[in-house]
Amino acid sequence: MKDKTILITGGAGFIGSNFIPYFLESYNTVKVINLDKLTYAGELSNLKEISAHDNYTFVKGDICDRDLIESLFKTHDFDAVIHFAAESHVDNSIEKPDEFIKTNIIGTFNLLDVAKKQWMEGSHQFKEGCESKRFHHISTDEVYGTLGETGLFTEETSYAPNSPYSASKASSDFIVRSYFHTYGMNVVTTNCSNNYGPKQHNEKLIPTIIRKAISGEQIPIYGDGKNIRDWLYVLDHCKGIDLVFQKGVSGETYNIGGRNERDNLYIAHKICEILDELRPKEQSYKEQIAFVKDRPGHDFRYAIDASKIEDELGWKADENFETGIKKTIDWYLDKYNN
Ligand code: NAD
Repeated sequence: MKDKTILITGGAGFIGSNFIPYFLESYNTVKVINLDKLTYAGELSNLKEISAHDNYTFVKGDICDRDLIESLFKTHDFDAVIHFAAESHVDNSIEKPDEFIKTNIIGTFNLLDVAKKQWMEGSHQFKEGCESKRFHHISTDEVYGTLGETGLFTEETSYAPNSPYSASKASSDFIVRSYFHTYGMNVVTTNCSNNYGPKQHNEKLIPTIIRKAISGEQIPIYGDGKNIRDWLYVLDHCKGIDLVFQKGVSGETYNIGGRNERDNLYIAHKICEILDELRPKEQSYKEQIAFVKDRPGHDFRYAIDASKIEDELGWKADENFETGIKKTIDWYLDKYNN
């Protein structure tokens, strides 16, 4: 991967801001341009460890701004795009879906279409020197809809998105797919399960549980707390993205998941037990858990069959939920104490 210049979108968000430092450390000749609109979810301080790195440039901007994308492609002659930027919070998509449709669908289309014009001569014909230029689309397992008590999502599972968020991500996945089939563009897509770890926005489940617990507030859990997600430590996701970016087969999709299914109540209990040890008080933090009205259309269970990326590319999660959550709690205790 010598001397490549890569456009990373949404790098100031949770996963992007874990990915960029990991990537720059892994490849010291790669240049990264991070394009981020800095919505409420983008946090530049999450990138302070690399803000002065010689191979890193930040550009504030919107992926829906076609002129900006074109001018960035002209200036930097990108070798690849790794596309994280999205509106990502399901609850917000229920309240206000508009931005999800714009950013997740129109924004992805813009990036792909500009990349195609820059890299392709015609259908299935690359411009000279552009043969290995790749578009890597980051997506979610939520596109597959919901599971019952059993079964796993594979790459062959039919899409059945249930929220405006997952529907917008499913749409973007299909646009990416169509640019492979119609134009022969070099694309890969990764569909990952729920991530957790440092730098996640306060609004998400695990930061909320930790924050509310230590501030003595009620810890809100939707419905009966039985909804199940397949939790993956964010750095394991970053390693999977890197592997697929380097070695994934063009046109293929890869599911990434840690085989760590846990329900929301288990997660809240586990975090409370760790806090009971680290910061004991008279009563267990579990006393603060309160069940609140369920999210409309709340998917019951997501779980990933990660055999393809494990068998074909040799990926394996390094953390399980119990090791990853300890690191995560340490990071948030540090953050919330400052
Ligand atoms: P995030 O919400 O934390 O970050 C999104 C980033 O994109 C923010 O920095 C935001 O400012 C930026 N952004 C939003 N709209 C933009 C626009 N129009 N132009 C430019 N930048 C814009 O999200 P995340 O959790 O880091 O997720 C990153 C990607 O991974 C998303 O595509 C998401 O669908 C996918 N994903 C997330 C998870 C998860 O558990 N968090 C799991 C699977 C897949």
